Amino acid sequence: MCGIIGATGLDDVVDLLVEGLERLEYRGYDSAGLVLTAPGELWRVRAADGTRSVAALRGLAASAPRAATTGVGHTRWATHGHPSVENAHPLFDCTGRVAVVHNGIIENHTEIGERLEAAGHTITSATDTEVLAHLVEEQMAGGLSLTEAVRVTLTMVEGSFSIAVVSADEPELLVAARRNTPLILGLTDGAALLASDIPALLGKTDRLFVLDDDQLAELRPGSVRVTTLAGAEVEPPALSIDWDLAAAQKGGYEDFMSKEIREQPRAVADTLLDRHRPDGSLTLDEARLSDDDLRRINKVYIVACGSSYHAALLAKYAIEHWARVAAEVDIASEFRYRDPVLDATTLAVGVSQSGESLDTALALREARQRGARVLAVTNVVDSSIARDADAVLYTRAGPEICVAATKTLLAQIVALELLALTLAQVRGTLSADEIDQIMESLHRLPGMIEEVLKREKEVDEVAQALVAARDFFYLGRNVGFPVALEGALKLKELSYLHAEGYPAGELKHGPIALIEPGTVVVGVATRNPLWDKFQSNIAEVKSRGATIVLVANDGDERAEALADHVLWVPAADQLLAPVVDIVPLQLFAYRLARLHGHDVDRPRNLAKTVTVE
Ligand code: GLU
Repeated sequence: MCGIIGATGLDDVVDLLVEGLERLEYRGYDSAGLVLTAPGELWRVRAADGTRSVAALRGLAASAPRAATTGVGHTRWATHGHPSVENAHPLFDCTGRVAVVHNGIIENHTEIGERLEAAGHTITSATDTEVLAHLVEEQMAGGLSLTEAVRVTLTMVEGSFSIAVVSADEPELLVAARRNTPLILGLTDGAALLASDIPALLGKTDRLFVLDDDQLAELRPGSVRVTTLAGAEVEPPALSIDWDLAAAQKGGYEDFMSKEIREQPRAVADTLLDRHRPDGSLTLDEARLSDDDLRRINKVYIVACGSSYHAALLAKYAIEHWARVAAEVDIASEFRYRDPVLDATTLAVGVSQSGESLDTALALREARQRGARVLAVTNVVDSSIARDADAVLYTRAGPEICVAATKTLLAQIVALELLALTLAQVRGTLSADEIDQIMESLHRLPGMIEEVLKREKEVDEVAQALVAARDFFYLGRNVGFPVALEGALKLKELSYLHAEGYPAGELKHGPIALIEPGTVVVGVATRNPLWDKFQSNIAEVKSRGATIVLVANDGDERAEALADHVLWVPAADQLLAPVVDIVPLQLFAYRLARLHGHDVDRPRNLAKTVTVE
């Protein structure tokens, strides 16, 4: 979602801002802008040319005043007011001397706007953000400094925000604050930096800090001061990251998605690394839950959105089967508003690649308030959900830049399988030998993924053959069902084609009415105890004219006889197989998107880290 970058104390500030915006583009955006506190006045450029806006800014920034050393940049993902230059951030107050960039939603902007207009302010954009600039203007006109004006302003607003504010009156000062959406701070000897995400600051400084909810930061050249919105001094926690800059660059690949798909064996292997202690027990990261705590758990509630939700669905099978604990899975944005039954014996697990997905973060907060123990599964160290949780299980996939999740999803699945094994271990539902065997099978997965990646050409040929198709049904049973959901989601996200994922047994209860000649049915037909039933489900759609593509285990003659096209994969143990079976479906969606001429890294309308509700 929107990206914020800011810096003060840099001679080349404009280059840093544009480069930072380029590195934040992956979050998804529709327009962009930047402002410099060119000494004495603000200098602003904005562009609303979809995902080409940052490139347009680079051109416009060529005429930036070189004396400026302070500025902020923004990529906007419109929530209020359509994407246009007028609605692009930074947004000004009436005087053009205060500029604000904002990520999130100011929920009471209508009332504030009406009051401001009645008091003589002119609001020029349709955004919810602009009122912030006018509120700061009002407070500064009353004699407050920029910092105090921002502090007072934030007492008046409801909703979620990370903001950065500059004023021509204090040209070397950046004021930032956050509530529920991310912001990190960086420091060097002569400069101070801020950004909504780590990749924007990689290679700029190692001294990074987390700004927490309801805190305000004052950045001046070489210094950062953090206070709570109430005014108390705070020592911001240092952010420890082991990502290097190369990990956030394409490294010779055509796009980030290709690179990240190929990094999957490594992401899975790293997530499994050193989890198994010599005494046979398993370790979580930052476990602030004891074995006794885990033994008391009698229900696991997993909340997530998007692809992470599919990882969560898969975890349900593993947790229930191995640990014999009831597991429920919910879409994070639904969970919070439906009065879920939770108490101290419930483990609420939030799964979020960024650790900043607002729906998931708020769901976990809700779970904690209701007394549940909270565990976060995330790829970003010290992210919001990691900091709020009782225990964390990190996926070690490295930065994922492509909007559509690939390597982080596979890492989430194995991380959640490790959680299932940990629960099984403390509850004694699996013996040490059984856990050893499952761990061995888990360690074989990277090699199997590698094997599937070698077969890319075969997947390409199937995509070529189906390039004219418009409707796709993805079917699976048991753990194949979440795989089907994920395959369909990837196709929707990347190719903008109609795709639905269904449990194969459910099709006959309605959706089969949609099957007609030309419909493509993609079946996840790797071996599991439901193979025979699944075969009948496929026969049902085949006899209605569907073209059949099956993901099937090497050498499966029945699958070959049934299908028009087969995507072959090596056979993994049943509960682990999704980690392998998803891969050809990622490649298939990637190839179809490319054949249709789409930008796979930045699909339309999508944001990587969804920081609005
Ligand atoms: N709600 C603000 C707007 O629509 C900010 C959106 C964003 O996070 O980019 O302008």
